[in-house]
Amino acid sequence: MIARAFEYTQAASVAEALAALQQDRDAKLLAGGHSLLPLMKLRLATAGRLVDIGRIADLRGVRRDGDRIVVGALTTHAVLAQNPLLREMLPVLSAAAQEIGDLQVRNRGTIGGSIAHGDAAADLPAAVLALDATLHVATSAGEESLPAEGFFLGPMMTALPEGGLLTAVSFPLPPQGTRQAYRKVAHPASGYAVVGVAAVLAMGEDGTVQYARIALTGAGAAPFRAHGVEAALLDRTLSAELAAEAAGRVGDRVEFAGDLYASPSYRRRLAEVHVRRTLMGLL
Ligand SMILES: Cc1cc2nc3c(=O)[nH]c(=O)nc-3n(C[C@H](O)[C@H](O)[C@H](O)COP(=O)(O)OP(=O)(O)OC[C@H]3O[C@@H](n4cnc5c(N)ncnc54)[C@H](O)[C@@H]3O)c2cc1C
Repeated sequence: MIARAFEYTQAASVAEALAALQQDRDAKLLAGGHSLLPLMKLRLATAGRLVDIGRIADLRGVRRDGDRIVVGALTTHAVLAQNPLLREMLPVLSAAAQEIGDLQVRNRGTIGGSIAHGDAAADLPAAVLALDATLHVATSAGEESLPAEGFFLGPMMTALPEGGLLTAVSFPLPPQGTRQAYRKVAHPASGYAVVGVAAVLAMGEDGTVQYARIALTGAGAAPFRAHGVEAALLDRTLSAELAAEAAGRVGDRVEFAGDLYASPSYRRRLAEVHVRRTLMGLL
C-alpha cells in the first residue's frame, strides 16, 4: 500500500524540529523511518507532516562524559553493534543491536526511534532497562531526563512527553567487572523478540552477586525489569541451581502477552528457560 500524502520538513536543529512539531499538531518526527514508514504504508499510522531529524549532526554519535556514556538519539543500530567503547563497556547494548532485523535495518534504524516507538518486542529497550539508562528529552518547555524504568508503558506507549524529542540516551558506567549478555528467541517471521533477555551482573570479591539487572522484552505488554529474579540473585553465588531458582521468579507480578504465535503460558515458560540460560552464560 502507499501512505497517505504528507508534507515534509527537514529540520536543521533540535529547536527547528520542536518548532515544526508545535506548529503542526498532525506532525511526526522521522528518524530512520524503519518503524514509522512501514506503519504509514499499512495505514496503521498517519501524519500530515513528517519532520525529518536525520541530518541533525548533534544527535549522532557515542561519547564518554565523566562516569557516563552518552549515545545520541540518531545513532544507528549498526553503530551500537560495532562501536568499540560500547562493545567494551556496554556489550549488552551492542549485542541487542546486533540482533535487530538485517543489515539494512541496522544501518538506518536509530536508538532514539526504537525507544520512542515503544514496540513491546523491540530489542534495545531490554538493554536500556538492564543498563539503568537515562533518556534525555527536549521539549519546547526545556529539557527533561527520564529514567528508562517506567518509560515503557504498554504496546507502543511510552512516557515520552507530547511534542518531545529524544536527544540522547545516557548510561552510567556499570560496576567494575560486570558480566553482560543479551539472548533472544526471535519470531520466525518478523524477527522481533518472542522473548528477549538482557542481563547485567557484577560479583563481589567473595564471588557473590552484588549487582543484578535483568530485563525482558517481547514477554509482556511492554519491556520490563524482572525484579523477582534480581532479588533472588543478590548476595548469593551464581550456580546452575541458583540460575534455575532465580529464573523461576520471572513471572513475579508479570502478565505475559499472548498472540497467535505464543500463548501467555508458553511465553512465561520461554521466559523462564531463557532467563536461566542467560544466567548460565554468565557463570
Ligand atoms: C524489516 C524490519 C525488521 C525489523 N526488525 C527489528 C527487530 O528484530 N528488532 C527491533 O527491535 N526492531 C526491529 N525493527 C525496527 C527497527 O529497529 C527501527 O529502526 C526502530 O524501531 C525505529 O527506529 P527508526 O529510527 O527507524 O525510527 P522511525 O521509524 O523514524 O520512528 C519511529 C517512531 O519514533 C518517533 N521518533 C523517532 N525518533 C525520535 C526521537 N529522536 N525523539 C522522539 N520520537 C522519535 C517517530 O516519530 C515515530 O513515531 C525492524 C524494522 C524493519 C523494517
